[in-house]
Amino acid sequence: MMGLIMAALVATSPPSPQPTPIEQYDVLVSAGHEGRPASCPHFPKHKCNLGAAGERQWTPVVADEITRSLRASGIAVAREPADFNGFFEVKAAVFIHFDGSDRPCSTGASIGYHDAGSSAAAQLWRDMYSRYFPFTFMPDNFTVNLRDYYAFRQVHAADGALVIELGEISCPAQREWLSTRLKPVSDLVADFIRRLIAKR
Ligand SMILES: [Zn+2]
Repeated sequence: MMGLIMAALVATSPPSPQPTPIEQYDVLVSAGHEGRPASCPHFPKHKCNLGAAGERQWTPVVADEITRSLRASGIAVAREPADFNGFFEVKAAVFIHFDGSDRPCSTGASIGYHDAGSSAAAQLWRDMYSRYFPFTFMPDNFTVNLRDYYAFRQVHAADGALVIELGEISCPAQREWLSTRLKPVSDLVADFIRRLIAKR
């Protein structure tokens, strides 16, 4: 059941034109870089990062399939692009990306999260995806951008909020492998989310 609750105004803060709405869903699924650059002027505090070559074409495909699969299981999903308004109270949040590197084939899959409350979720996804993904899996939070992803501050996810980099698409071998597997990879992410949120 999804609902819209208006956050209580904090007495000490200056009056704002509108209180921040808190949106409640089971899961938030965001497609990295989707909607840019058109959305960039509306979110001047976000870096207008357009992603690796080809990334912006793939992240919505993956996010849509994850969303379809979860909704088919009766799970309430907020499907968001890269830039969105509001604050989300959910069980799990995933921000879908593919990595790109100036030194092709120097990275692979990776996971980003901001605090220890998401480390069990990261471990579960690593266990599941590393059995399937035949290339390198980088250490968690191997870049600052992974740990301090801008959208983490717009979500509270009880079971975990993760940036999921599904592979390095600037690496021809990884790109080719991923290109024919976007659906099974997406369905694996959906399975991961179902397992994650079923734990409580
Ligand atoms: Zn990205």
